[in-house]
Amino acid sequence: RGKRAFIAGVADDNGYGWAIAKALAAAGAEILVGTWVPALNIFETSLRRGKFDESRKLPDGSLMEIVKVYPLDAVYDSPEDVPEDVMLYLCVKTNKRYAGSSNWTVKEAAELVKKEYGSIDILVHSLANGPEVTKPLLETSRSGYLAAISASSYSFVSLLKHFLPIMNPGGASISLTYIASERTIPGYGGGMSSAKAALESDTKVLAFEAGRKGKIRVNTISAGPLGSRAAKAIGFIEKMIEYSYVNAPLQKELLADEVGNTAAFLVSPLASAITGSTVYVDNGLNTMGLAV
Ligand code: NAD
Repeated sequence: RGKRAFIAGVADDNGYGWAIAKALAAAGAEILVGTWVPALNIFETSLRRGKFDESRKLPDGSLMEIVKVYPLDAVYDSPEDVPEDVMLYLCVKTNKRYAGSSNWTVKEAAELVKKEYGSIDILVHSLANGPEVTKPLLETSRSGYLAAISASSYSFVSLLKHFLPIMNPGGASISLTYIASERTIPGYGGGMSSAKAALESDTKVLAFEAGRKGKIRVNTISAGPLGSRAAKAIGFIEKMIEYSYVNAPLQKELLADEVGNTAAFLVSPLASAITGSTVYVDNGLNTMGLAV
């Protein structure tokens, strides 16, 4: 049987999650995705109407099949954590009758996947959110900082915790990080730099724990700049892409597919001894000490 992947953080065809889904599909994996509830309707409608057909094309000419789209809000672990007003809002968004329950918390998503598919081999975390990302750290509120950590770092701890019991031994997980965790990138604010530092540190601790507990590998990709929807919200992505092009050892555009291919390698048996690592896919920009 081919491998089965659950990819959290796909809501259009522009981001790293989509590119990772494609690379895994091209390698023969079955693709399940978790899509943020507010973006669910438009994503599913666009998929159904063929809006993504061009970008679903795989190298062999076939179209990537997303076998199931699960609603997901990775800042909530279980229904008890969802405030009443949020529950109501999201029910309206998903045309769901409000019955005091949800099906988009991390625990419920894992339960649904278990019920419908039994197990997975690959878990991908390709999501982040920082409500105050445009504010410098010195101007970030406590709640903004904690929200960034909750959506961008703890969300991975929670996903791995809830999916680990249904992951087949030998499986692997991957997340996406950014160099702002270890070098100062003015403009990447709101505690997002802190969130990425936590994510990278957690990658090591979780590699140990999940390795011992379930023979699961845990790695993160430190990706260079991509003009995704999330990145455009930060506001200076075009500048970062230009900066990278000018200063990186490899002076070429960074393609989302290059990150996708690295993710496919890292979750495959080819990388069977790699765990707890931060792997740079950034045209080498991280190695430079002086802008030229
Ligand atoms: P993207 O917009 O394609 O992906 C972010 C996704 O997160 C979106 O689909 C959004 O709906 C989802 N999301 C936000 N909050 C959520 C929540 N609470 N629950 C579930 N889903 C939620 O943008 P992207 O840039 O491809 O981001 C993917 C990952 O790559 C992120 O971790 C990001 O930090 C990382 N990254 C991006 C860049 C870049 O330049 N774009 C560089 C390095 C790392």
